[in-house]
Amino acid sequence: MPFEIPHFINGEHRPPHSGRYLDNIEPAAGQVFSRVAAGDSRDIEAAAQAAQAAFPAWSRTTAGERADILNRIAALLEQRLEEFAQAECQDSGKPITTARTVDIPRAVLNFRFFASAIQQFSSEFHDTSELTFNFTLRQPRGIAGCISPWNLPLYLFTWKIAPALAAGNTVVAKPSELTPLTAHMLTSLCNEAGLPPGVLNVVHGLGGEAGAALTAHPAITTITFTGSTATGAAIARTAAPLFKKIALEMGGKNPVLVFADADLDSAIQTSVRGAFSNTGQICLCGSRIFVERSIYQQFIERFVDQTRALKIGDPADPATQLGALASQGHWHKVLGYVELAQQEGGTLLTGGMRPANLPPRCNGGYFLAPTVITGLAPDCRTNREEIFGPVVSIQPFDTGDEAIRYANLTDYGLAASIWTQNLNRMQRLARAVQAGTLWFNCWMLRDLRVPFGGMKESGVGREGGLEALRFFTEPKNVCIHGG
Ligand code: NAD
Repeated sequence: MPFEIPHFINGEHRPPHSGRYLDNIEPAAGQVFSRVAAGDSRDIEAAAQAAQAAFPAWSRTTAGERADILNRIAALLEQRLEEFAQAECQDSGKPITTARTVDIPRAVLNFRFFASAIQQFSSEFHDTSELTFNFTLRQPRGIAGCISPWNLPLYLFTWKIAPALAAGNTVVAKPSELTPLTAHMLTSLCNEAGLPPGVLNVVHGLGGEAGAALTAHPAITTITFTGSTATGAAIARTAAPLFKKIALEMGGKNPVLVFADADLDSAIQTSVRGAFSNTGQICLCGSRIFVERSIYQQFIERFVDQTRALKIGDPADPATQLGALASQGHWHKVLGYVELAQQEGGTLLTGGMRPANLPPRCNGGYFLAPTVITGLAPDCRTNREEIFGPVVSIQPFDTGDEAIRYANLTDYGLAASIWTQNLNRMQRLARAVQAGTLWFNCWMLRDLRVPFGGMKESGVGREGGLEALRFFTEPKNVCIHGG
């Protein structure tokens, strides 16, 4: 029997006002396994009221007191890592090994990191003259609205709520309706850890209903969003006339540039990982690979060999490296792009179809074998639009200028991975490639202190480290004159 996932408001699990629930499907099986509350503006209103009532006391706690609670949540989550990993795997279709080694450990780390960061946080002091000084008082902003996507459900949910809470805000959060389970499970741990009622509220439901109501609520004056660029634009349209503070982390179409002087073994191995990790559903995945012509043929052959060796199958199997896509709608979208690529003149070197030999329980699941396409123009739609699945295109380039031009051909600007041993070239590319994160000779090497975000249509604002704590606080300049 599918179980029900309720809201979490004022420290309690509550049914939705409407009484409606949405089917929650296990992507690997294509079967309903739970039902999630379909929240609307009435649930958002109740959550906002709880968050407002909790704010005065929570905002007056010391950084150390908040850090203690966040660290307790982290410890409880770590104790139940396996239970959360199993839930994330079932809810999202991601391989259990990814959930065990990436998603849940990173959620633990998000709490620990911001518990520590808030205790190191300081603000500016300006010594103006002998009798006058200015200092910047940073206060929590109030209620933060945190909207997160399905690809890294708990990982990105906690990446938002941890800094918001650490900085002394209360929160109304809306996880993706496609992957609500681990955010729901976390709420019980928050109670167990002693987080006061109303400090964190979780309202589930559709983006156009619960998400839109959250964005429009006048008391929720800070909005942090991770998801698609189209949704980010809708949120910005609502938030702008209400003068809300917003941070938008959106789509990507990230280039990988491989120069002939690169360490080819690492470049190929890492690019395969960068293309297909989490079944290609990470905003940072490198989905357009440009290779210097002299090594192009060799690169393709070895890349395709390594792609074919990847194990796609039941996400619950620890040996599986690629699981299911997160939903039927998304699966159709990705398959549509494989078709488009062929219409645009692309050649499929491998993949492009449902893998054979899936276990019977996965017959109704949303699987696509890792797909490699060549022969596309760098500016075709397949190479400019975000696919967000296990689909990568590879094309040659002849000069450094051409590589830069190809890299910058999309409206996105999230990340790039560049392979070269030449330091002068690195310096030039670092300035010329339009992306919020540039990885040289690596991919996805994360340090949580660095600013994280995108340029162009990939984002507005930065998350991570002090940037996040600055985002969730209001700077007030205080000028004191004496004498
Ligand atoms: P999405 O935009 O469809 O949904 C994201 C969240 O927004 C969900 O919780 C959804 O319910 C909510 N939402 C939808 N419509 C809304 C509306 N009108 N008002 C308010 N909320 C609304 O994105 P998705 O399909 O869940 O996630 C995939 C996308 O996320 C990809 O484009 C990917 O690149 C992007 N992403 C970006 C980053 C980053 O850090 N830049 C990280 C992960 C994913």
